[in-house]
Amino acid sequence: MPSTKILIVEDERPIREMIAFHLSRAGFDTVEAADCRVARELLADERPDLALIDWMLPDMSGLEFTRTLKRDKENDDLAIIMLTARAAEYDKIAGLDSGADDYITKPFSPRELVARIRAVLRRAGPGDGETVSLGLLEIDLTGHRVSVDGKEIRLGPTEYRLLKFLMTHPDRVYSRSQLLDHVWGANVYVEERTVDVHVRRLRKALAVQGAADFVQTVRGAGYRLSGRGEQ
Ligand code: CA
Repeated sequence: MPSTKILIVEDERPIREMIAFHLSRAGFDTVEAADCRVARELLADERPDLALIDWMLPDMSGLEFTRTLKRDKENDDLAIIMLTARAAEYDKIAGLDSGADDYITKPFSPRELVARIRAVLRRAGPGDGETVSLGLLEIDLTGHRVSVDGKEIRLGPTEYRLLKFLMTHPDRVYSRSQLLDHVWGANVYVEERTVDVHVRRLRKALAVQGAADFVQTVRGAGYRLSGRGEQ
């Protein structure tokens, strides 16, 4: 099971490295940015599950950055925890209004940080112990099991990630290049026809339970998953 990836956005290097050290010790993958510009690149390339964003950053305030991220559809499943040196009640409210899922006041203990991250990830569904369903399709995100009408089907890791992405974004059409960005990562150089190969495999696996037409081809545009099947 791929581990949870956390983006740390903090310009003060000693703090950033201290956080990265403790998070990797707690079993998380980490990526680091010293400003919002680099953070944006990493969000696109690395698709982190959660971002820790410091309040005071050189190019934009963490608050404003969080607001822009939450307005952006691309990041709608990103959990955000803000780090702040200001403990006033105002900041707490402003932090939550920004769309952040939680905030932590500096200084904090590594144990507290890890506990807060786990709590936010649990709340920010889909997470541990949760299932996503669409029509007769269901994914158990903890066990990485996929079923159609209660009957389990077997998928390769890429087909699983592809189906998981499409199921959490149903009835929307994605081009091959968008699917590459979302499922493979923006900086992975694979050809667009790779998407077709994996869509074919996914359909073949779904076909075993008569659900191949849940993954629909939209001519000239891309693919879409619909719980209603082909229409
Ligand atoms: Ca800072």
